[in-house]
Amino acid sequence: MYRSWNFYAGPATLPLEALEQARDEFLDWEGTGMSVMEISHRSKQYDAVHHEAMSLFKELLGLDEDFEVLFVQGGASTQFAMLPLNFLPQGASADYINTGTWSAKAMKEANILGSCREAGSSESSGFTRVPTQGELDLDPNAAYLHVTSNNTIKGTQFHQFPDPGQVPMVGDMSSDILWRPINANSFSMIYAGAQKNIGPSGVAVVLVRRSWVEKATVDRVPTMLRYATHLDKESLYNTPPSFSIYMVRNVLRWVKAQGGLVGMEARNRAKGDLLYNLFEEMPDFFRSPVEKASRSYMNVVFRLPSEELEAKFVADATVNGMFGLKGHRSVGGCRASIYNAMAPEGVQALVDFMKEFARVNG
Ligand SMILES: *Cc1c(COP(=O)(O)O)cnc(C)c1O
Repeated sequence: MYRSWNFYAGPATLPLEALEQARDEFLDWEGTGMSVMEISHRSKQYDAVHHEAMSLFKELLGLDEDFEVLFVQGGASTQFAMLPLNFLPQGASADYINTGTWSAKAMKEANILGSCREAGSSESSGFTRVPTQGELDLDPNAAYLHVTSNNTIKGTQFHQFPDPGQVPMVGDMSSDILWRPINANSFSMIYAGAQKNIGPSGVAVVLVRRSWVEKATVDRVPTMLRYATHLDKESLYNTPPSFSIYMVRNVLRWVKAQGGLVGMEARNRAKGDLLYNLFEEMPDFFRSPVEKASRSYMNVVFRLPSEELEAKFVADATVNGMFGLKGHRSVGGCRASIYNAMAPEGVQALVDFMKEFARVNG
């Protein structure tokens, strides 16, 4: 069997063990004679997977008793709208920290439904860093503060989360959830589309405080778009994306077996440092546009001396079995997405290739 080194930003590489388990039990799952994607979502077998995935999130992140785990469809983009639908009452305002693309899309939805303000932005520096606490202008009466923990496109990441004061903090962690231990309990809600760091596309995970959901005014919110609906029915109000949730469960088991989030952090820092150290070593050939303190350990963005060389680099990489290294179409350049599942050997192979490419083309 041949496996490429997959640096795509999402859907992205998954742990081999999680895929192998799915392969092995694809046709006959746990002796049922059915695939997990064929069996009823009301069956006791599926129910066990569903709840195991929920408890693994709680365990890995050390969530307190108030938190509930929800599985919702529509990706992180639907969360951009569900958040203000549920938690931005008429006449109130929400704070958003703008770190580019994804936060801008989140703000767009809030502006459709109510009013929001930019509580901080790194736009003046081309989104090449995240704002510091001192630069934030927080509204103490905001309905919530929204922060995008990792900007997948710009390659920036918060290494210290903002202090929101008394305001509920919400994190879009689509591209770095579970990358390291965090104080998840300082949030009121965390959401993530699964297809970057925790599974296949088709499901978003929402970790939300029950006490906050119970306070929301949702009279005019359609049933499926209420957090309360999914919370009350344990994400089984309607048919959940059961196969995606099963894959997420497999991935979470793998994370736990690697030493949980402590294990993930060691693995991820080593991988990221391999690339960032190379930029230090060869500054005339590879350059990170991102300020040091804001560099992402999930999406490593870099430039070569010319766009021609960047195109050649991406093309030559594919010949060497490395895919997905082209930067996002909105920013150009190159990007290596090295999520939890990317093996250290994959990053080492990339670094070796980069050195050779620079030697031949430099
Ligand atoms: C990919 C991404 C999204 C959008 O996710 P979808 O599931 O495709 O809607 C939102 N936020 C961040 C930070 C992302 O990386």
